[in-house]
Amino acid sequence: MAAGNAFAQSDSLHQRMIGSAFLDNASYDMLMRLSDEAGGRWIGSPQNELGLRILSEELRRHGLEPRLERFMVPGWVRGDDEVRMLEPSERVFRAVALGYTDRTAPFEANLVWANRGSVEDFDTTDAGGRIALVTQERQQGRESLLRSEVIRHAADAGARAVLFINNKKGQMNLAGMGNFQGDPASVPAFSLTWEEGKRLQRLLERSVPVRMRITVNSHCTPVESANLVCTLPGKTKEKIVVGAHFDSWDLGQGSIDNGLGTAILFDIARILQSLSPENHRTIELVWFNGEEMGLWGARKYVEMHRDEKIHTAVNMDMTGSPNGFNAMGNEHLVPLLTDLYEGMRGFNLTRGVISHPWTNSDHQPFMLAGIPVAMPLGHLDEHMVKTYHDFGDTFDLVNKKYLSEAAGVVAILAYELANRADLPYIRRTPEQTASWLIENKLDQRLKRQGEWVFD
Ligand SMILES: [Zn+2]
Repeated sequence: MAAGNAFAQSDSLHQRMIGSAFLDNASYDMLMRLSDEAGGRWIGSPQNELGLRILSEELRRHGLEPRLERFMVPGWVRGDDEVRMLEPSERVFRAVALGYTDRTAPFEANLVWANRGSVEDFDTTDAGGRIALVTQERQQGRESLLRSEVIRHAADAGARAVLFINNKKGQMNLAGMGNFQGDPASVPAFSLTWEEGKRLQRLLERSVPVRMRITVNSHCTPVESANLVCTLPGKTKEKIVVGAHFDSWDLGQGSIDNGLGTAILFDIARILQSLSPENHRTIELVWFNGEEMGLWGARKYVEMHRDEKIHTAVNMDMTGSPNGFNAMGNEHLVPLLTDLYEGMRGFNLTRGVISHPWTNSDHQPFMLAGIPVAMPLGHLDEHMVKTYHDFGDTFDLVNKKYLSEAAGVVAILAYELANRADLPYIRRTPEQTASWLIENKLDQRLKRQGEWVFD
C-alpha cells in the first residue's frame, strides 16, 4: 500500500504539521522556562501556580485562549521532615515522606525488619511500637505490594512508621503517594535510598539495635488548583480531548515527568491553532493538575464534563520519540491508527499498533467513565527515565528532537480523530466498562488501590 493513501486531502496538511513541529518548534523553550523559572510543580504550590501563569502566557503568544477550570482537592504540603538514626551512631538520612504522610509529634523508636511488608511478614515480626523497614525488591513467586497496602499492614500491626528502601541504586529517593484517596496516611511513611536502606538492613541482620527519631512536618490540607484548558470549537459537539499532566513531583524540575507531555501538548496547541483551528469535532487540549497526587485533575475534568460527548481521550505522560500507537483496547480505533502508522515512514514506529490498556495515569478516569482512549507510544533513553520522581528529573535530560517528533505525530493523531466523521461515537455503560476492565485484567489492581467504582 502506498503511504498516505488514506489521507489524500490532508496529506499536505500533515506535511505542514510535521514541518512546523521541527522548524518552528516552541515546546523546548517553553519547557526550559517551566523547568527553570517555576521548577517542580507540586499541586497547590506557588511553583505550580507560577507554572500555570507561564504556560498561559506562552499559549496566548500563539493566539490561543487558555482558561483555568478550578477545583478543590485533599492536598498535601511537604514540610521539614527528618529521619534520624540515633543508635548505633548518629546520621540524618536522605529520606522523603510519601504523600499524605501527616504531621506528628517527633518520636523515637527501634527499627525492625519487615521484609516486603505483607500481612504474613508482619505476622512473623514484632513490629508493635517500632519502625518497620521494608524492601521493595521483587521476590520470586510473590506478588509485589503497593506502598499503600504496606502502610495499612504496618498500621494494623501497630508499627509507628514505615521506611521503604528504594529498589534502584544511585542515592535516589522514589517519591510517591501513601494512598490515592486523599486520606492522611495511617502511619508516617518515607522512601530511603537503596544505599542507606541497605546499611540499615545489614545492621538489623546482624542484630545490632537501631534506634531512630522521626519528625514529620508535612501535612494534609485542602488545596485549590486548576486544570488549564484550550478549546478549538468544531462543527459538532463531539469532543476529542488531548491531555497531559502539568503537575510534577517537587524534588526535581519535573522536566521529564511530565514536562515532556506538557511541552508536546503545548506545541500541538500551537500547530493546530495555526494550521487547523476549525475541525469536524471539537478539540480540547487539557493540562491536568494533580496527577501525581492521585489523578485529581483528570477525575475533576471527567466529573465537570460528564454530560458532554467526549469521543476519544489521548493522554501523554512522559511521551518520548514516537515508536507506535496504542488503541488501549478500542478495536474501532485500530484502522485509523494503522493508517497513521503506514503514513509516517520516516519515524521508527517499531512497536506498530498495539491494543493493550493500562491504568494509573490521567486516562484512567476517562476509561472508568466508559470513554475510549488512544495513546502514542514513545521511546525515552534509559538515563532520562531512571531519575523520575526524583531530584534528577531536570531539564538537561530533555531531547529537542524527541519533542518535535512527538508534537508532529500527535498533532496529526488529534487532527485525524477530530476530522474522520465516520468514526463511531462509543461510550460504554458502567456495566460494559466493568466487564471490559475485567476482560483486560485491570480490575484487581483498581480494587487494591481502592479505585474500583463499580459493584
Ligand atoms: Zn507522570
